[in-house]
Amino acid sequence: MQEKVKKHSTNGSSGFVPLSSKLTERSQSREVSFFSIELFPPKTWKALDNLVPLLNNFRQLGSLFSTVTWHSTMNQLDNMDDILSMQVAEIALNYCWLDTMIHLTCVDMTTDKMLAILERLKQIGITNILALRGDLNENTVGDFHYASDLVGFIRHHYGDYFTIAVAGYPIEHPESMNKQQDRENLKKKVDAGADFIITQLFFEADVYIDFVDECRAIGIEVPILPGIMPIQSYDSLTKITRLSQLDIPNRIIQDLEPIRNNDEAVRNYGIEWTIHLCRQLMQSGRTPGLHFFTLNRQHATATIVKALEIGYSFCHKPLPWKQPVNHRRCSENVRPIFWSGRPESYVQRTNTWDEFPNGRWGRVHSPSFGSLNDYHLFAALDSITPKNRKRYAAMWGKQLLDEQDVWHIFEAYVAGTNNRFGHKVESLPWNDEGLAPETNVIRHRLSHLNRHGILTINSQPNVNGISSSDSIHGWGSPNGYVYQKAYVEFFISQHKIDCLLKILPHYPLVNYQITNSKGDPFYTNCDEDEPIAVTWGVFPGKEIIQPTIVDVVSFKVWKDEAFSLWMNKWARVYPDEDVESHSVLGSICNTYYLVNLVDNDYPNETCLWSMLEQVIVSNHCTSSSHEV
Ligand code: FAD
Repeated sequence: MQEKVKKHSTNGSSGFVPLSSKLTERSQSREVSFFSIELFPPKTWKALDNLVPLLNNFRQLGSLFSTVTWHSTMNQLDNMDDILSMQVAEIALNYCWLDTMIHLTCVDMTTDKMLAILERLKQIGITNILALRGDLNENTVGDFHYASDLVGFIRHHYGDYFTIAVAGYPIEHPESMNKQQDRENLKKKVDAGADFIITQLFFEADVYIDFVDECRAIGIEVPILPGIMPIQSYDSLTKITRLSQLDIPNRIIQDLEPIRNNDEAVRNYGIEWTIHLCRQLMQSGRTPGLHFFTLNRQHATATIVKALEIGYSFCHKPLPWKQPVNHRRCSENVRPIFWSGRPESYVQRTNTWDEFPNGRWGRVHSPSFGSLNDYHLFAALDSITPKNRKRYAAMWGKQLLDEQDVWHIFEAYVAGTNNRFGHKVESLPWNDEGLAPETNVIRHRLSHLNRHGILTINSQPNVNGISSSDSIHGWGSPNGYVYQKAYVEFFISQHKIDCLLKILPHYPLVNYQITNSKGDPFYTNCDEDEPIAVTWGVFPGKEIIQPTIVDVVSFKVWKDEAFSLWMNKWARVYPDEDVESHSVLGSICNTYYLVNLVDNDYPNETCLWSMLEQVIVSNHCTSSSHEV
């Protein structure tokens, strides 16, 4: 059963690097170059709404990885799908693009159950485990006695497939006979195969420095990450230290006493104290990084890592789209352009693929995409809930009276202006986030189109040999050149389709695909077996990389998702009694067409804008009065 995670080179555009190697590499320098975060699974699905933006923000701040705690009472082991810690770890890894470590306790666990959990972790792509014993209870039974048993068990069954961390206690573990014994027990975990250690929280740098020196003296050589808990409130501080059986230094108690009822003052004190502590740790030359127990709150940790300037830099994009961190997808470097506004949906629909396209989008086989929303985690993240409904209604209109109301929301989104209710439209059902920086170049064109009912959901300007280091269009390794064809995708009315179909034959260098929600009729001049590269890059010493394509097979899958979002997402913002809003959206969904256009003449100014202007003008001349 032993197998290894494929270890790819670190400098390729798609190499998977195990967390253990990332840490070893960083440990070679005396500089602190990263931070990581600990989260706990929220008790309700609703609370996940807050955890996802928190994870995204920490990724953007440059967290190297996240860890998710394990709660034996919360995790229902009878059904692997119900194990909350695994669900959160999966979200962090697959939908927030953050390398993720799961905590796993072995107390009360049988070897069979443990194997089932480890198999499930493999399935979802988790390759990092913090192997723990967990706290004993009165009736503790099970096949494991110590965390070292769990480490040995994982190594025995899975070789070095998993990166394994273990817990270390700068002030000895409360159950241990003495410090020396506790250090020896820690060494047993490392000797059993642990790759690194994360420490229990502590408040003073000397405690950590002495601990590391004691560990080194008995031959523990793996990296030892200090676990740091910014003090966030007086109550949480006393509760956590009581549970961990730790003493709070007198100085902190004295400082906090006068402000203990003022949460903001306590938090600010905690931030200052932690920044000072971290600076001392950084200067000690004993750690490559800092691990923060965030308590699922962002402000304190974010403020501290910004002050310390230790975010792991993600500035350079290896590919034009967000690259997954799941090792199973490490070779993936080609995707259809259609999902660029909904990358989570693409990841979910392709979860079951055994292989991901690398270099070329397979021409011969039709990849089978999973169906949308058949997966409860993704469905939960993507849905309109009573809690977020208000926010969506503010963005997408409290009530829609006619199609122009919808056009206006689209226009406000691309223009970055407020809608007529005075709210910013930060996302649309087809675009989870704001516009990409490169869209700024064509923003005024898109605003104009949307104002006239050409409802754009995806686009890119043409680019002809710009440096791969360009801050807006660049991606891939340095000293390369990147290219792309102008692309635009939009919904339009039947009337405008008639105009467009008349104009298209005059533009032989434009590829198009046009269809309605039923997929009939389907107009195209594309070859079903021939994907069109719309983004590619030329790099020294490498084959041409073409990470984004347009093809007929995936467009046919995408169009179902694209049309479904009118009613399955946007319309859900409105109560059933709001007949007008439902009818406006239903009418667009049932009568509009989805169009994509690729201008293959990428070195020259694109013809797409003048072509669509012709559609607007000819529609003006021939349309019925309501279509302007
Ligand atoms: P062990 O390493 O097995 O140590 C337990 C005790 O046994 C120690 O006193 C040790 O000295 C002794 N010992 C160890 N090996 C031997 C041996 N071979 N022979 C004799 N004695 C031995 N708990 C959770 O329930 N969920 C979590 O998500 C969680 N996350 C944590 C994260 C961190 C960073 C830390 C520091 C702790 C975490 N804990 C968590 C708490 C942890 O489960 C408890 O501290 C638990 O009591 C000990 O776990 P351990 O893995 O350190 O155990």
